[in-house]
Amino acid sequence: KKKDLNAVIEVFDDVVEKAKAIDQRIAKGETLGKLAGVPVAIKDNILCNGKKMSCASKFLRDFVAPYSSTIVKNLEREDAIIFARTNMDEFAMGGSCENSCYGPCKNAHDNTKVSGGSSGGSAVIVAADMCPVAIGTDTGGSIRQPSSFNGVVGMKPTYGRVSRYGLVAFASSLDQIGPISKTTEDNAILMNIMSGSDEHDFTSSKITVPDFTKNLGKDVKGMVFGVPNEIMELLQKTEYTSKYIDLFEFLERQGAIIKQVSIPDYKTSLPSYYVLAQAEATSNLGRFDGIKYTKRDEKAYKIDEIYKFSRTKYFGAEVKRRIMLGNFVLSSGYFDAYYLKAKKVQALLKSQVCKAFDGCDAILMPTAFGEAFKLGEKSKDPVSMYAEDMFTIFANLTGVPAISVPFSTGKTGLPLGLQILGKHFDETTIYGVSHFIEKNYKEKK
Ligand code: GLN
Repeated sequence: KKKDLNAVIEVFDDVVEKAKAIDQRIAKGETLGKLAGVPVAIKDNILCNGKKMSCASKFLRDFVAPYSSTIVKNLEREDAIIFARTNMDEFAMGGSCENSCYGPCKNAHDNTKVSGGSSGGSAVIVAADMCPVAIGTDTGGSIRQPSSFNGVVGMKPTYGRVSRYGLVAFASSLDQIGPISKTTEDNAILMNIMSGSDEHDFTSSKITVPDFTKNLGKDVKGMVFGVPNEIMELLQKTEYTSKYIDLFEFLERQGAIIKQVSIPDYKTSLPSYYVLAQAEATSNLGRFDGIKYTKRDEKAYKIDEIYKFSRTKYFGAEVKRRIMLGNFVLSSGYFDAYYLKAKKVQALLKSQVCKAFDGCDAILMPTAFGEAFKLGEKSKDPVSMYAEDMFTIFANLTGVPAISVPFSTGKTGLPLGLQILGKHFDETTIYGVSHFIEKNYKEKK
């Protein structure tokens, strides 16, 4: 039954052997790493030396990673076992995990619903107890939204906190790798191991990595949580306003202060993201040309045929749409009107997030509009799929960390996530809040 969920593309063939080696080391009394023997699943866009990695694309189906990503190395240094690669939207483009060349990944709690995306497989493998922890990537919500849909904890760290070396780039200025787990504690432990500067990624930050578990077990007395007015307005469109209000009132009873804040241009984040991310994607995907890494169409002979036929045959429809969108917004004559304007909006949002955080410890909002939707419900209408990202994109555009923690269930009994945004490089605070809610909040029935 778990196989039917289609969360896993491949369980690696050396996991038993690696587990036995760990057992032997334990028997010899050796000191082992913090994750000794823990299976960790990785999204299919992260390189692990000698293993296949396809980005769930026909184009890269037979590609074998020539080296390991920094996060895989960091995990293996602590004796984790890289267990499997998980299903995803092709090149991480999507919000439902339906754009995969392996077919859709299904929700862990209801196989007629989407898993969310793009890291759907990573969220489902954890939620369905097939692997204790998994790694996802998040450019516009791809860790948090599937975590919300499957009732698990997902963290998008501050931009620069985790090295992106060995991750196939989608939109390099927004991409971050992060952990997905059953509990906040497991998540924080993983982040301790994954984070830190890396000479191979110049956007990785040199800021000291704190102990992310430091605030676990603390209460929220005296903490100030900002709730943006603009989000409350959007929330009115959902059926779940009262659930969030109930949670906010609970936090107040625990001694926290809920403060109304404003991010006046919040709504512009969605269109800006779809300009910026696609512009970067267009450039990043230029390397997939039928020559260097990817498959080549057998009928192609001349150089332009190699590009054209191979891309036509092996890229999926959504990826092609994004490449066209990206080329359009970057084309001369439109550059100022789209790309440059979106960049200006991003700068505005960055200044607004700083103001909103002034006097607040964290910002609270939903992760998604509601529960997981039906398979096929939005796949024919890209704009409605894009609109799903309304609550998650803001953290990517501004670079702040954001975690999704399950706190309630919706009408159909599927999980709902709360999203907690922190100040730049302050994952520690939001882990504390997430842990407090996970342990103490009991919804009024
Ligand atoms: N749903 C968003 C998109 O399709 C986000 C994807 C992501 O975070 N990788 O672009």
